[in-house]
Amino acid sequence: MNIRRGDTVEIISGNDAGRRGEVLQLLPDKRAVVVEGTNIRKKHQKQQQTGGQRPLTAGMIEFEAPMHISNVMLVCPKCDVSVRTGIKRDQDKKTRVCKKCGTSVD
Ligand SMILES: [Zn+2]
Repeated sequence: MNIRRGDTVEIISGNDAGRRGEVLQLLPDKRAVVVEGTNIRKKHQKQQQTGGQRPLTAGMIEFEAPMHISNVMLVCPKCDVSVRTGIKRDQDKKTRVCKKCGTSVD
């Protein structure tokens, strides 16, 4: 996976195509990522018994659902567009570089 937590990525397909957000979570097993503010799903929150008082967290809650990594691309901070990345070896260190401008994106 060439995407890491905290990266800014752009959604390239689906309902959220064109939107950007920060990677909140990586799910390497599923090759999926959770991106802030995208792929919003709603689910019902069960009402909790609070002894006759109104429940505090009833109703719908919204959350970001994971999406497959092939639906997102890293945004190069210099180019300000979604780009492909390459790996540059600097002695033993590997850094990700923008294939367009060559800037390190790590
Ligand atoms: Zn670039």
